Amino acid sequence: MRDRLSRYLPMGLTLCLGVGFSIASALWVGRWEQLTQRSQFQQQIDNLATALQRSANRYNELLLAIGDFYAVSDNQVSQAAFGRYVQRSLLSYSGIQALEWAPRIADTERAAYEQQLLQLAPGHSLGITERNADDQLVRAGDRQEYVPVTYVAPWQGNELALGFDLASNQTRRSALERARDTGKSAATGRIKLVQETNQDQYSFLVFLPIYQEAAQTPRERRRSLQGYVLGVFRVADVVEEALNDLSYSVNFYIYDHSATSDQQFLGFYDAATQRLTTVVETTRASQHHPLCPTITACTHTLSFAQREWQIVFVPSRLDEQQYTSWGALAALIIGLLLTGSLLLYLSRSQAELDRTRELSDLKLRFFSMASHELRTPLSTILISVQSLDANRDTLSPQQKASAIDRIHTSAKRMTQLLSDILTLTRAEAGKLEFAPEIIDLEPFCIQLVDDVRSNLKTGQCLSFEFNSDYSQAFLDPKLLRSIAINLLSNAVKYSLEGGKIQFNVMSDAQFIHLQVIDQGIGIPPEAQKHIFEAFYRSDNVGSVPGTGLGLAVVKTCVDLHAGKIQVNSRLGEGTTITVLFPRIA
Ligand code: ADP
Repeated sequence: MRDRLSRYLPMGLTLCLGVGFSIASALWVGRWEQLTQRSQFQQQIDNLATALQRSANRYNELLLAIGDFYAVSDNQVSQAAFGRYVQRSLLSYSGIQALEWAPRIADTERAAYEQQLLQLAPGHSLGITERNADDQLVRAGDRQEYVPVTYVAPWQGNELALGFDLASNQTRRSALERARDTGKSAATGRIKLVQETNQDQYSFLVFLPIYQEAAQTPRERRRSLQGYVLGVFRVADVVEEALNDLSYSVNFYIYDHSATSDQQFLGFYDAATQRLTTVVETTRASQHHPLCPTITACTHTLSFAQREWQIVFVPSRLDEQQYTSWGALAALIIGLLLTGSLLLYLSRSQAELDRTRELSDLKLRFFSMASHELRTPLSTILISVQSLDANRDTLSPQQKASAIDRIHTSAKRMTQLLSDILTLTRAEAGKLEFAPEIIDLEPFCIQLVDDVRSNLKTGQCLSFEFNSDYSQAFLDPKLLRSIAINLLSNAVKYSLEGGKIQFNVMSDAQFIHLQVIDQGIGIPPEAQKHIFEAFYRSDNVGSVPGTGLGLAVVKTCVDLHAGKIQVNSRLGEGTTITVLFPRIA
């Protein structure tokens, strides 16, 4: 448990910290980006609002200039002079529908005034006009006084305005009165013009009062009012002209904040088309956007001729794409990639560490095994040689033969051990030679069986059965011998005296089977997955001599043939080990 913890802790920590830092940095970059984008957006809407306010001021100042013209002309301005004075403005202000003069006419002056109108526009028979309930232009009813439009520039397109009593309409009248009482210009709310043929846009009127003499109080102003200079302006053209040079992808809604709620909407500006449309009344923009956390943050108020216009800015769809947090995404990806690389590096280092540990374990096991396994046969040899030497004359020929036999067996054990180690070391270094050739299987196996038979314990019997359609196989004879000898000698070693050992060679469509069956001590289930590891020996081997290298050698040789090994064993009942060689090998 502790081992596993120390093994996976660094990687787990790196993963958690890496992912944590990646997310934190992505959030930080995202926030930073959003703040930058928000301040850029604020800068843009400030610029737009300033441009709109400047434009509104320009239109207001135009009226003030006409007012000044009246003042220097002692309020005596002829229609021709009025026309000449405003001519240049009509060309340079694209939002102007008309610039007009509307005097105050008392009811007593009406007849004379209407005569004057006929002179100005022969054929204008209605005199002073107003709109009836059906919105038709009719002769104005009798009132104490009128404010009829008298000079109209340009004339073309605005003919219907001539003689129209501005005071006959509520919207206009309230602006007229406000202008009159304050002495300052006053704008109406949105209106549809008398002369407007295109009902698709709103306009508004701005009145500048002209007094006969200087007036300070509302009462004086009412008394000395002579008339109004007025501008008829189209909202869309005023706005579009103001934003001509600014191509930001920011949309906005314009509302007349001074009007009643159903009369507030003036238009929606679409940055993509750079047009202000009024066709469909859009509900007040209320959607939240990261650039506009609150409506107030993106609302500007313009003051214009005693009215307040609210501009509610919203980022255009184009903008939303532009404001995607690419930086945050990049930070997240880079962070995760770095974490991934670090994890890869750590896992490689860990694997290398594991391997180094394994090697050092292996070395340790090797030295302890070698010291034990080599020392035992060596001391047997030494003791036997000493005994032979010391008792040369007293030992019977039988005792001498048994001592020589012991020396022989010990030497063979040492040779086998050294050869196994050599095979494994070579295989590990990739230098174990693999030289397959066509072998006549049956005689090859009979020879092996003969060699092993000489080592059988008392009463043991080894039978061999060859049951293959193919007598020839393409295998490495040296390695095949090593495999078979190891398996057979294990079967002999781990079987009791009198045990039966079966050696079978079979084949099917894909494999050649080499099978060794014994009735020996068996392999404990938990040991079965380890028996091919070098130096591994199961607990039940008791005093049976061995190095734990035989099956490791078998596995190495089978792997070189691209073969497979199957183990089937029951404790105390016996073991069957089958090696499968691919037929094409
Ligand atoms: P060893 O020199 O110990 O025989 P091997 O590598 O040949 O080494 O075998 C590894 C272990 O597998 C043995 O120590 C033994 O526990 C088990 N083993 C192998 N073959 C048999 C078998 N036929 N019967 C029982 N146990 C076996």
